[in-house]
Amino acid sequence: LLDVRHLHKSFGGARGLIRTARRAQVVTDVSFTIGRGETYGLVGESGSGKSTIGRTILRLLEPDSGEVRFDGEDIVGLSRSDLRRLRRRVQIIFQDPFSSLDPRVRVGEVLAEPIRLHRLRASGDVTARVDELLQTVGLAPHHKDRYPHEFSGGQRQRIAIARALAVEPDLIVCDEAVSALDVSIQAQVLNLLARLRDDLGVSYLFISHDMSVVRHISNRVGVLYAGRIVETGPAEEVFARPRHPYTRMLLAATP
Ligand code: ATP
Ligand code: MG
Repeated sequence: LLDVRHLHKSFGGARGLIRTARRAQVVTDVSFTIGRGETYGLVGESGSGKSTIGRTILRLLEPDSGEVRFDGEDIVGLSRSDLRRLRRRVQIIFQDPFSSLDPRVRVGEVLAEPIRLHRLRASGDVTARVDELLQTVGLAPHHKDRYPHEFSGGQRQRIAIARALAVEPDLIVCDEAVSALDVSIQAQVLNLLARLRDDLGVSYLFISHDMSVVRHISNRVGVLYAGRIVETGPAEEVFARPRHPYTRMLLAATP
């Protein structure tokens, strides 16, 4: 489904007449693939370049070089109108759901808006679809009338998941999606994401600094260190028999 090849990204540095400041290389030669219904975990410490990779896949950032193929199509050169098509098929969920939820918009409208925008249901069927989405993430129909700030952190993350699902995406990038939650709520949200993968065939790029969270949900993992994937493989293998010293160190630091 997703095929990332030799991705490079740097920031900063003067591009004009005076070239004194150095550009900082943040992502170096990153390659990985995600199959349909698969979860690829990207784990690494703060500043290792995880979010930069996630944003580049959504074309919120332009890579310096490399390919991002989605269903075989390189999205790096896509035009604006083609990008809109991509934006429906790839969704992102952030650590802080308020980055994706407008606090002034009632939950029912948060979910109805993308359905209407992409004309996914006839106008008479939108409310029924909103109820269905709420039910899918374990919320009640009457929650439609409330605002995002009237929910707990875990519930808010469920709303963000429902909104991502509203457009029936193929891939969801979860960028520290459960990192702000209590451990018990984390497990609930992870179980919800895993159930959606099994029931709907959604794929995930699951980004986290937390090894135990990544271990819980991923089929395959990549360990990112200073912008490079230093180790990759099936999750059980990498966690049971880490080969790279950095992976060993991360695992040793995980309770
Ligand atoms: P965290 O776990 O803290 O979220 P991360 O692995 O997601 O970290 P990134 O957000 O990808 O890390 O950042 C990687 C590096 O790139 C950092 O050193 C950061 O300062 C730098 N960086 C990220 N975005 C920009 C930007 N827009 N301009 C300049 N530098 C940036
Ligand atoms: Mg990040």
